[in-house]
Amino acid sequence: MHIPLELVQIIIEYSLYSKNASNHELAVSIKPDWKAIQPLTLASKTYRALALEAWFQTLFINSPNDLENLRELFPGIARSIRVLHCVQNDARYISMWDLTGLNHLSKIRLDWLSRRMMPHYRSKDPADRLPFTHIPSFVTELDIRGLPWPSPMVFHNIESILPNLKILRLRQQRIWCGLCHTCSVARFKEPGPERIIYEGGGGLPIHYARALRSLQHLRTVSITIADFGSGKMTVGQGDEHNRYLWSGECDRCMEIMYDDDDFRDRYVARKKGVANGDIGHAYVPPPGLNRVEWHFWRAEGSEEVDVQESEDEMSDSGEE
Ligand SMILES: [Zn+2]
Repeated sequence: MHIPLELVQIIIEYSLYSKNASNHELAVSIKPDWKAIQPLTLASKTYRALALEAWFQTLFINSPNDLENLRELFPGIARSIRVLHCVQNDARYISMWDLTGLNHLSKIRLDWLSRRMMPHYRSKDPADRLPFTHIPSFVTELDIRGLPWPSPMVFHNIESILPNLKILRLRQQRIWCGLCHTCSVARFKEPGPERIIYEGGGGLPIHYARALRSLQHLRTVSITIADFGSGKMTVGQGDEHNRYLWSGECDRCMEIMYDDDDFRDRYVARKKGVANGDIGHAYVPPPGLNRVEWHFWRAEGSEEVDVQESEDEMSDSGEE
């Protein structure tokens, strides 16, 4: 029986990509099982070519060298990649990813297993920038997971390498606090929020807004962080539960600094775009930003240990 190739293509894409990957584990491929399309690769040369092309639309890779080899040996496959899922291992050397030739790439996911990427500690470290070169202009989505220190400095080259970015996703334990200017863990009074959504451009940590404001096409920023619980402040969705427009502030800062009503009101006004010279510039979002999503997962006891270990490591190595 002859099946039109268009139908075969639909069958392949349905087999591979009809289910959204929901695995949040780092350095684990989001691709479906190879068995999903293996029978088709054995049916005929034509089916095999279509199946392989679809299979390599998403590439999971641990090393820039592997990407280089793929580009040299199988340039056709490199050209068909649409989603690149790459991993920075916990090694001393921070990889730089040269994406030359990935002409159909539209999305990059980077899983960061390293404790490094602390530009304010290591000015010569190549990790003081997003570690990509020659990103094709069609890339509109960047998804970074596992950054131990998600400082705004991470994004200082984002406009030059990803000028057409529309969606930025982050998932990590800490977030930048605009009050103490450090990467802190979030703690909320229980029950903590599940999500907070801002529409119309607000909702970013103010220094993130500054780092991202040259991105003319940025529409959505989605940030998922851990809630370590036992906080003093109640924060949630809606005006009633989010009077101070929470956007990354740590619990300790809010407890101490919001106690000063005048400071707090001026700080919140600043988030609304009102200049308050003595406490900093007004919040100015990227011009097209219309949605900021915060999502939270409840940290378990073992994650508390991770945070402490990272803090110990930073204090041990910060003066190198
Ligand atoms: Zn703070």
